[in-house]
Amino acid sequence: MASDGSLTTEPGHVVVIGAGPAGLTFAHELLSRTKAKVTVLEASDMVGGISRTVVYKGNRIDIGGHRFFSKDDRVMAWWRDRMPVQTAPARDDIHLGRPVDAMDDAPADPARPADPERDEAVMLVRRRLSRIYYLRKFFNYPVSLSLDTILNLGLVRMVRIGFSYLWMRAMPPRKERSLEDFFINRFGVELYQTFFRDYTEKVWGVPCREIKPEWGAQRIKGLSIRAVLAHAIRQMLPKPKATLSQKDVETSLIDRFMYPRLGPGQMWEVVADDIRRMGGGILFGQSCEGLQFDGTRVTGVDVRGPEGTRLIEAALVISTMPLQHLARASGEAVPPDVREIADGLRYRDFFTVGVLVRKLALKHDGRIPTVNDIVPDNWIYIQEPDVRVGRLQVFNNWSPYMVADPDTVWLGMEYFANEGDDLWSQSDEQLADLGLRELVKMGIVSADDILDRTVLRAPKAYPAYFGSYDRIDVLRRWIDGLDNLFVIGRNGMHKYNNQDHSMLCAMTLVDQIVAGTLDRSALWAVNTEAEYHETRKEQAQAAAAQGGAVAAS
Ligand SMILES: Cc1cc2nc3c(=O)[nH]c(=O)nc-3n(C[C@H](O)[C@H](O)[C@H](O)COP(=O)(O)OP(=O)(O)OC[C@H]3O[C@@H](n4cnc5c(N)ncnc54)[C@H](O)[C@@H]3O)c2cc1C
Repeated sequence: MASDGSLTTEPGHVVVIGAGPAGLTFAHELLSRTKAKVTVLEASDMVGGISRTVVYKGNRIDIGGHRFFSKDDRVMAWWRDRMPVQTAPARDDIHLGRPVDAMDDAPADPARPADPERDEAVMLVRRRLSRIYYLRKFFNYPVSLSLDTILNLGLVRMVRIGFSYLWMRAMPPRKERSLEDFFINRFGVELYQTFFRDYTEKVWGVPCREIKPEWGAQRIKGLSIRAVLAHAIRQMLPKPKATLSQKDVETSLIDRFMYPRLGPGQMWEVVADDIRRMGGGILFGQSCEGLQFDGTRVTGVDVRGPEGTRLIEAALVISTMPLQHLARASGEAVPPDVREIADGLRYRDFFTVGVLVRKLALKHDGRIPTVNDIVPDNWIYIQEPDVRVGRLQVFNNWSPYMVADPDTVWLGMEYFANEGDDLWSQSDEQLADLGLRELVKMGIVSADDILDRTVLRAPKAYPAYFGSYDRIDVLRRWIDGLDNLFVIGRNGMHKYNNQDHSMLCAMTLVDQIVAGTLDRSALWAVNTEAEYHETRKEQAQAAAAQGGAVAAS
């Protein structure tokens, strides 16, 4: 940073901590627009962060399932520039005689033909289907008032839900101190216990009464029983022609998305190749363990690698590592109150049990044709209270190229945990056994059809909005007071960011560097801006049109 407070376009050696979407987008943008010298430090041996793709014996695991969709045109165009959208059918389209799917928000470019059967780097356009598995039956996600729902729940449960809702309406509303109060005020006790409580508690590992109501307000705005009923009635009427582009629709309801042919990590490998071509360095197995300060200026980064610890001097440092680690790495430079808040931040950890099977025991109703008649879902929310698995990915349906043998089914069983808890502290072997037991118990697979399994852990997958989160502004003020250190990304800012938000933070910062102006509040505003939070009429209608259970992506 220059002495007048502006950022210089020649920032000397720029050190980026983390080769996930935020760090790589920053490096890519800076290298393409300035002459800066950029080094990206990555603690693991792969690019992509949580958005990486891990290959196990030719089968690919996507941690959580990453839809490539953004309401921001710049991000959509950026992805398409790196990987062209398919212009020819994918393997499963060919098998089923399906035409190539299209998205208004991501048109294919006829000047860049991309054939997934022939070309390596291709963005597929996929249709989303994700249902809820409960009472060993499928429910629409989000839950809607349909004949299927009524038949699946049964009359007794439906009546209980109805009475509990009417009772809630007749009583004065609860004071909303927690997410539990938030749900009950909108849906009644019975519906809350049926569809909201268990899944939310599986995701966050704490009772809903300990989670702040604001989280519900942010995730399921515009949703109510009245809206669900209105939707059920609208469904019976002739449908008007759809005029909305997906940009106007709640992100959780997007029905089509882009997906790299070989999973999300493929995008970040393409970006990493570009960075190297532009002269940037990406160093693997190099973890930032300390930061050296001269007053409010960072002068270097202590990096630990296989060869020991060394100091890398830096003129500008961009951090995407967890905020808690950043504060710890800053040692004495951090005031005690800031340190205490950083230590109090909470995370939720995540692991996937990858299971390869010959076929599913689950019966597909055949309404949507699929290869080998497997269920059509990309992922399934598991609401069953007798198992600990939270979600089930069917990787074949994300991209047929994620699976080595197209006559097998490649599943990802997703569990939420806390580092050190009874789940996390089990060995990989024990976790794999748990996954297989639960898969068989739920009737999804029969034991004879299991071919292989593996376990993949993702610590700090979710930054939590509890713990010391309500005092995060103090931490933010300290960071904003540093001259040449910026935080971007999901754990980097401790925000529930998707890839696009992480990328937009990076792009906004590079815009500021290039323009020579600095506005840190614009960085923090990404993902809290009007576009994401306003309850537009269309958004409310779209959300209301579905009704439903809360899920974390
Ligand atoms: C279950 C799940 C589902 C998701 N689904 C979607 C989706 O559908 N669509 C979507 O767009 N997004 C989705 N996301 C979000 C997406 O994964 C993240 O937004 C994105 O990966 C964040 O990028 P990032 O660069 O900020 O952080 P990360 O991906 O966390 O990358 C940070 C990198 O920094 C490295 N690092 C950390 N500490 C250090 C250190 N001390 N020194 C050096 N390197 C370090 C890490 O190894 C990592 O590679 C999902 C996330 C989860 C958990």
